[in-house]
Amino acid sequence: MNQHLRQEPVAFIDVHAQRRRLGASIDDAVGRVLTHCQFINGPEVTQLESDLAKFSGAKHVVACASGTDALLMVLMAKNVGPGDAVICPSFTFCATGEVVALTGATPVFVDVDETSFNINIDSLKRGIAAAKKLGLKPKAVIPVDLFGQSADHDAIAAVAAAEGLFILDDAAQSFGATYKGRRLGTFGLATATSFFPAKPLGCFGDGGAIFTDDAELADALRSVRVHGQGNEKYDNVRIGLTARLDTMQAAILIEKLKIFEDEIVARNVVAQRYFDALHNLVIAPRVADGNLSVWAQYTIRLPKDGPGRDAFAAALKAQGIPTAIYYPKSMHQQTAYKHYPVAEGGLPVSEKLSEEVISLPMHAYLDQPTQERVIKAVRDALGA
Ligand SMILES: *Cc1c(COP(=O)(O)O)cnc(C)c1O
Repeated sequence: MNQHLRQEPVAFIDVHAQRRRLGASIDDAVGRVLTHCQFINGPEVTQLESDLAKFSGAKHVVACASGTDALLMVLMAKNVGPGDAVICPSFTFCATGEVVALTGATPVFVDVDETSFNINIDSLKRGIAAAKKLGLKPKAVIPVDLFGQSADHDAIAAVAAAEGLFILDDAAQSFGATYKGRRLGTFGLATATSFFPAKPLGCFGDGGAIFTDDAELADALRSVRVHGQGNEKYDNVRIGLTARLDTMQAAILIEKLKIFEDEIVARNVVAQRYFDALHNLVIAPRVADGNLSVWAQYTIRLPKDGPGRDAFAAALKAQGIPTAIYYPKSMHQQTAYKHYPVAEGGLPVSEKLSEEVISLPMHAYLDQPTQERVIKAVRDALGA
């Protein structure tokens, strides 16, 4: 194609568009921090925690340095360690299982459902059984709300209650999503989220938060966040981390949270347009009744008789349309995690999804003409 006629490449996630929209309000927020110079534990951190509590409905919010730290801090505060098993889905970002391994506990990987991409309840039960057979003590389950959609929290809670496990919800991709009309952040013992820039609610660096209704846990998390500090500054009462959210990121997040509901609506408009145009051609994602997704990713599966995933991605790339594969390997297939136990019967759905999924550009500012380009490129690549 003639270079002059070639259209601009489409952004997979357009962080510039939101920056343009927020413009001066972000500049002012950063300016205020530069004026007061309380870069650690500034007033914006407490303000953000209270704004997030209000938004989610959780009683306590502890801001922290990343989504990974958010997960790890809960396991540390609950004294999860060697001899314990923590059950997690294998089809997820590596941080979910990584934090378990970091505590010295054993991650036990279980399978997911092929429509929701989230934890499969029968496999969860089989994972608990596998842990017990190995002489491990099942302590917790970390369901993941993958790609923006909530896991089936009622079903998970029933299994966890029967087995005496606590639930740590990994909502790194799904803050703002609802389950049966209620926002994530209030299911299980605690919920972890991430403010990595590409997440639905992202900051301008790394950041995260933990949500809980348990006051004692919230206190322990505030201690873990700063080296396990106790009431006396130099008498640390537990082993902790340096896992604070810095004031600058909190100031930015306060402004971004103000437009987040509006962005969630916009993301759902984009998702609906994709669904209408593509659901006859590919396996399009479906949101369970009663759930609202925040569409961290728009992840499709290609028809078996089509061009194959690599050729499909190459055809879109040639049209300036980026795609991404989340995740080409499930956790139990990765070098660092292969030796950990899995649910009996293996994880065939995770393995199949890793071969079939591909994600299309998705963000709140994907306008209709640009999205039509993506849709046309998909149709062309599939010969439709
Ligand atoms: C992004 C992500 C994390 C980790 O968040 P960071 O802020 O990058 O540390 C954890 N779990 C899932 C499912 C994620 O997508």
